[in-house]
Order: sequence, then C-alpha cells, then structure tokens
Amino acid sequence: MTKLLGKVKSRIRRKKNIEQKNRIKRYKSNLISMIKIFDDPILLEECYNIEKKEILDSVTQDSLKLMGKVLAATKTGVGLSAPQIGLTKRIFALRPDPEINDISFFINPEIIECSEEKQNGIEGCLSYPEIFVSVERYKDIKIEYFDKEGNKKIKKFEGKESIIIQHELEHFLFGPCFVGEAWKKGKFITEKKINRKGKKEKEWDSRKFRKK
Ligand SMILES: [Zn+2]
Repeated sequence: MTKLLGKVKSRIRRKKNIEQKNRIKRYKSNLISMIKIFDDPILLEECYNIEKKEILDSVTQDSLKLMGKVLAATKTGVGLSAPQIGLTKRIFALRPDPEINDISFFINPEIIECSEEKQNGIEGCLSYPEIFVSVERYKDIKIEYFDKEGNKKIKKFEGKESIIIQHELEHFLFGPCFVGEAWKKGKFITEKKINRKGKKEKEWDSRKFRKK
C-alpha cells in the first residue's frame, strides 16, 4: 500500500515538474517575444539620455528590471539595448557570460577614449536572429556612464566586453546596428555556416535568406 502510494506520489511529482517546466518556458518565451526584430521602426529611432534625477525613478528602475529579465530569458544574449524592447532610452544591459548570468546596466554611456588598435569579431544581434557578420571594432574603450544606483562611473573595457558595448551603443543612433545593416544588404553569415566552417568565414551574400 505504501509502495503504491509512493509510486502515485512520484508520478504526480513528475507531472507537476513537467507542468512547471513548461510554465517557465512559456514565461521565458513571452519575455523574448518583447524583443523588437528586423524592420521594427522603433529600432531606427534615436534614443535619449536620462536625466540624473530620473535614474532612481520607478520608470527607469522598472525599465532596467525588465531589460534584465528579457536578457536573462535568452539563451545566448550578451547584451540588450533599451530600444530593442521598444524604449527609446540610452540604456543597455551587459551579460558577457550567459552561463554566469551576471547582468550590469549602463545608463547614458559615452565612449570617452578608444585604442588605435582594432579587433575583428563575428557579431550577432537579438533583433536580427540567426544573422552574423564580421565587424571591426576598437580593441579597448573607456566609457563614462551611470550605474543603476545613479553613480557616475568611468571604466575601461577590452576584448569581448568592448565589442558588446560598441555594438549596443549603435542601437542608440538612427539606423540599424551593423548586423541590421548587413541584413538589409543581404550580406551576412548564417549560424549554420558558422557551425560548419568555424568562425573564420568571411561575409557572404545570401539574398535568398528569408525574413522570419
Ligand atoms: Zn544588437
């Protein structure tokens, strides 16, 4: 009897676990669906600085929380800018390592110094899924920004973080980021191509690629 009860209980537990897993999956995909993609006009709008006194406002703080949740819901996203979820503000979230999921926020970021040395990397963008492009960037940058508590910071970034920051800053200007530009021109690399030939592949022309 107890054995049978135990079996029933573990079956119920398994069922509940599956239900909850699916609920979390739906919750994550709802968050991801907030990301504006491809030719959404908001991606082409200019973004504005936030006044220092507004940083601790609930509107700004809620925007940060939402951006953090959306970025965390993605599997591989390393950065998300506010316009990507329809907010035309100069804010971006950075998550250099999706496995660690440590997200930091940058408000009104401005590059104040950059190295002469450049680096080349393959970039993707959450707003242009499955499209990759080789982009040349400054190797090191120094930026000035406010953190989420409203403290002014000046910090130097290099390598991967420097690339992500330069990419996110592009989202604040008129026009698409480099990845969006490449998508418009039909000159990009697809994920399949990267997996097959490694990340050294040069840009290639694929006008046949369909919009999602
Ligand atoms: Zn992007």
